[in-house]
Amino acid sequence: MKNQIVENNQPDSPTSTNNDGLSINTIITAIIVLLPLVGTVIGMGILFYSGISSLELGLLVSLCILTVIGVEVGFHRHFSHHSFQTTTPIRAILTIFGLMAAQGGLVYWVIEHPRHHKYSDVSGDPHTPNLHGIGFKNQLRGLYHAHIGWIFEVLKSGDTDSSLLVKDLLKDPVIFRIDQLQLTWVVLGLLIPAILEGVITSSWIGAFKGFIWGGLVRIFLVQHFIWSTNSICHVYGSRPFKTNGFSTNNVWLAIPTFGQSWHNNHHTFPNSAITGLEWWQIDLGKWLIWILEKTGLVWDVKRPTANMIAARKLQT
Ligand SMILES: [Zn+2]
Ligand SMILES: [Zn+2]
Repeated sequence: MKNQIVENNQPDSPTSTNNDGLSINTIITAIIVLLPLVGTVIGMGILFYSGISSLELGLLVSLCILTVIGVEVGFHRHFSHHSFQTTTPIRAILTIFGLMAAQGGLVYWVIEHPRHHKYSDVSGDPHTPNLHGIGFKNQLRGLYHAHIGWIFEVLKSGDTDSSLLVKDLLKDPVIFRIDQLQLTWVVLGLLIPAILEGVITSSWIGAFKGFIWGGLVRIFLVQHFIWSTNSICHVYGSRPFKTNGFSTNNVWLAIPTFGQSWHNNHHTFPNSAITGLEWWQIDLGKWLIWILEKTGLVWDVKRPTANMIAARKLQT
């Protein structure tokens, strides 16, 4: 519905995840988590011995930006929360960039993410850090679960109206086909920087460094930026609004997450296209959506009104 904001849901009956053991999915997931870490360790070694060139820095930063846009503006704000409408080519580009981030497929994301809002920080939330008991050791366990551990758990089949959540995607053959080729996009995201630096420097060493910086280090950084909103932004930070759960705002993660670290704001107005509600709250996703809206490529952008924001503040 046009420009209508739905405020945060209240938890009802919980669902749960179960552990899949050492399945093929677990192995693939472990590779997707560990390979970027290995690449980053190699990158640190290269940095120590020979530094990083402006080309490599450019590949790293530009591909970080594009893939964070894919996940935050595409997977999250558009596909999961329907906070704005856009054209099929823009949806396709956002999907491809999001898949290059190696955060899982779009259909998986769209099914999984609403659980986090529906059951925030109670049983059924796939990645809450707040159900592991009290004390420092248990808090660390909770942070680990929210950051990485939850990824190794699989969805308990048949416990939600998944087909309803992805009905728009199932009706869109272009997006659905792109999502089915997710491994191809991950590999392309590794090969493109390798080919670019290899060609520009006319060397295999250049190709290897492009693969490391624009590929593996970039995936590592983006993974942990995005996962930090699950872990850090449900434990540390400010809570200007009262919501179900313990979501927080963290200014220092605002730029690398393209605004998702205004996470308490997001949980207050989950289907808003903007998360930075104050003038000083940097929300790069909001600015990108605004630019696309002005050029006519995006429409039906949902934003909370000043009265809605003020009303929620009064409840705190
Ligand atoms: Zn959250
Ligand atoms: Zn969300």
